[in-house]
Amino acid sequence: MSCTTARFSFELYPPRSAAAAAALPATIDRLAAAHPDFISVTYGANGSSRTTSLDVLRYILQHTDVSPMAHLTCVGSSHAEANRLIREFLDAGIRRFLAVRGDPPADVPAGETGLGDLRSSAELVQLIHRVQAERVPYGELPVPGIDARAVLGSREHVQIAVAAFPNGHPSSHSVSQDIDTLLAKQAAGANLGITQLFFHPEDYLSFAQKAKDAGVAFPILPGIMPVTSAARLRRMLELSGEDLPSELAIQLEIEPTEEGQREIGIAWATDFAQRLLDGGAPGIHLYTFNQHQAVLAVLERIGLLPGAGTGVAGTTSRTTH
Ligand code: FAD
Repeated sequence: MSCTTARFSFELYPPRSAAAAAALPATIDRLAAAHPDFISVTYGANGSSRTTSLDVLRYILQHTDVSPMAHLTCVGSSHAEANRLIREFLDAGIRRFLAVRGDPPADVPAGETGLGDLRSSAELVQLIHRVQAERVPYGELPVPGIDARAVLGSREHVQIAVAAFPNGHPSSHSVSQDIDTLLAKQAAGANLGITQLFFHPEDYLSFAQKAKDAGVAFPILPGIMPVTSAARLRRMLELSGEDLPSELAIQLEIEPTEEGQREIGIAWATDFAQRLLDGGAPGIHLYTFNQHQAVLAVLERIGLLPGAGTGVAGTTSRTTH
């Protein structure tokens, strides 16, 4: 049986103020020094963050040796707009994507979906592959009579991750619908899954097993966030609609100091990640909230940081099968 070392990756969001933009490079440098598989950067569903997302992705490309992953959304876009967006990111040198549909605005008129030309993330996955395959590298002209797709690109050149929902997408009626959706994303050419936040390891482990049994062949990374304050926990539950992990909530609510809350969040995320890896997760994807300290502390304690041999968890390295 072959063993591979468990891997990890990070998520950032584009900064929303000049001060946040000024602080982000130092955070990225610290995260990159941990040698993650990739750092993903979220994208505003209405395209609001197109420039800022690209700026962050370019910084990662130009100043670190880590591969950036661009989240892209298709909600509300025409085919032509989605095509242009994908081409712009490919031209910037991005080769890893997280294709998500995005949520339509709340004020869509009755009888309309607000979705745009692409109805699901599976269609966006397909379009990214198509644009990449048909793309003519700058300065190269297609040779008459030769199919540009055959010579200029293939599916191997891009990695496309998709969202997975261990506790079901809010609009899904059953677990089997969520798994069918993942199969549709796989058929479209996705080759990695990353989950929505969840707070009970068995939710992920049973979902990943069901997906595998149904034929989902790509790895599904559990998304984990060290929840380092009661306010952040409330915000995360609001955004994800997940069940409250009552023990964690109580611990955070009764702890009076910021430092104490931070320690509770890190210890909780360390134990959570450990249980997921022990259960067979292929790695972990850490939601950073644009801060490096907590996620690096979690990795250090599990023994996943390069050179970390004395993590609090007491392990020197981890393997999954
Ligand atoms: P889809 O895969 O299109 O699925 C949405 C719904 O349609 C589901 O109910 C599904 O069951 C159904 N469906 C899809 N395909 C089919 C099919 N072929 N047949 C039948 N039913 C189908 N949002 C942002 O705006 N920006 C981000 O950067 C961002 N990043 C995210 C990262 C992660 C890891 C996750 C988990 C979510 C992220 N989101 C982001 C949120 C995401 O846009 C929303 O959850 C959105 O509601 C659904 O996106 P999706 O890609 O899962 O949609």
